[in-house]
Amino acid sequence: MKERFPGLYRLCPSKGFPIASLDSPSSLLFDAVDWNFNFPRNLSDREAMELATLLDMLEEVPLWAGLDDSEEFSVKSMAAAISPVATAPSATFFSAIWRSAAPKKVKIFGWRIAINRVNTADRIQRQIPRQVLSPSCCMVCKRATEVDQHLFVDCPAAASWWSWFFGKVGIHASSVILLADFFQVHTATRKNARWVAAVKAGVLAGFWAIWLLRNKCIFEDEGWNAEGLQDTSNRLIALWLHSSEKDFKGYSLADLQRDWASAI
Ligand SMILES: [Zn+2]
Repeated sequence: MKERFPGLYRLCPSKGFPIASLDSPSSLLFDAVDWNFNFPRNLSDREAMELATLLDMLEEVPLWAGLDDSEEFSVKSMAAAISPVATAPSATFFSAIWRSAAPKKVKIFGWRIAINRVNTADRIQRQIPRQVLSPSCCMVCKRATEVDQHLFVDCPAAASWWSWFFGKVGIHASSVILLADFFQVHTATRKNARWVAAVKAGVLAGFWAIWLLRNKCIFEDEGWNAEGLQDTSNRLIALWLHSSEKDFKGYSLADLQRDWASAI
């Protein structure tokens, strides 16, 4: 903390405690930990974002408990790591995430969305109850509190992508209302393997692109546009399908970038 976040460190009145003494890895992962840093004043936007990054880093530690012996993430090892938790999402969730074509960091991010562990403003606020986080609104639309359901589903930016994407893959928008629905949507109809792969890639690409957009809105104070979000998401879908899906072997990256939807 001292080296990576010197501003936060200076604010922190008690500087001696080791992170390991704060909590056990399992409760770090699944329980709401009250990280009482005792900051003497409310945090600025930048400090709040630094705190979010710090909390992210703290949570990386138990995340690696999901590695199997070969140092690879697997559904089995992750399921074993979370087995004591009665409220953990079902294995279907994890299969949907891990077996997609997305890179590991995006899968981790998707997994964190699935178990409600993304550091949105409301979640950071719960972790530092003694400070008032300001602003707590969604920095993309500035119209609602930044909770995960809003940011990833209901925010106008997110809604514009999902409406476009679900139209492309033929999914009825009324079947995807809650965040949890997104992790099962690929099972809703019986389609071929390419369709399933594209839907999984699209869901994760959308989440990831929305998160990148949200961070851009915070740090660069930029507005959003539907085309930009669509471009980013489509580029990711094409790349992931091309790089690791055997089902798309006959298609060049350029083909998929031009129109991945015609290949499913
Ligand atoms: Zn919003």
